[in-house]
Amino acid sequence: MSEPLAAVFFDLDGTLVREGAAEAVRRTAVALAERHGLSADGILTANTSAWRDCWADQGERWMRGELSGDALPRDIWQRTLERFGQDDPTLVDEAVEIHLREERATFTLFDESLEVLDALRSDQVALGLITNGPARSQRAKLAAAGIDDRFDVVIASGDIGVVKPEAEIFRHALDRLGIRAAQAAHVGDSFSADVVGAASVGMRAVWVNRDASVAPRDDVPHHECRSLRDVLALVTQGSDSRAR
Ligand SMILES: [Mg+2]
Repeated sequence: MSEPLAAVFFDLDGTLVREGAAEAVRRTAVALAERHGLSADGILTANTSAWRDCWADQGERWMRGELSGDALPRDIWQRTLERFGQDDPTLVDEAVEIHLREERATFTLFDESLEVLDALRSDQVALGLITNGPARSQRAKLAAAGIDDRFDVVIASGDIGVVKPEAEIFRHALDRLGIRAAQAAHVGDSFSADVVGAASVGMRAVWVNRDASVAPRDDVPHHECRSLRDVLALVTQGSDSRAR
């Protein structure tokens, strides 16, 4: 028998909001192409390569909050445009501005996100958010999605310099609410970051597997759901639901 849940923590990107990153880049490439007579496909190809290189160099530090919020996109767009033969810094500024604006516009809530957050709230369960990313940009996404006032605690990896799946970020979130791991669930779409991390500290790990993918590991106890609505059953049924 497991304890009743006192808190449910959620991941943000891909769990409560749709991943809008690829669409934001595509829209930025189209806008730059139209304004400056460039090839949108060429910009996209260069961006993909630049993103891969920059993420390998800086992604970890960016998520830990060791770089400013727009440092990574700025470097990516600088390298993108250089590869395309453009080195005008005002063009980089323009690209970053369009990208950040489109990113906010493309991060939209999944259909059931609000309904589930509200239902959990009425069940007297505390709500938390544990997200990997710079503090400012993750909070900007929360505000853009209209859910910045829904959580008792919001922890971005950039706040504390620790990223999921490291245990410390989950323990920090539990401490902020003054509860034990056995009293909490964490819900997220990343098996490696959300499920592995939450399970490692003894929280109930809930994998949001909308695509019906095969679990990458079979040695990590977790619940699996296709929709956030399934989380409600986990809370109300509590001790009856079985972990895989
Ligand atoms: Mg995610």
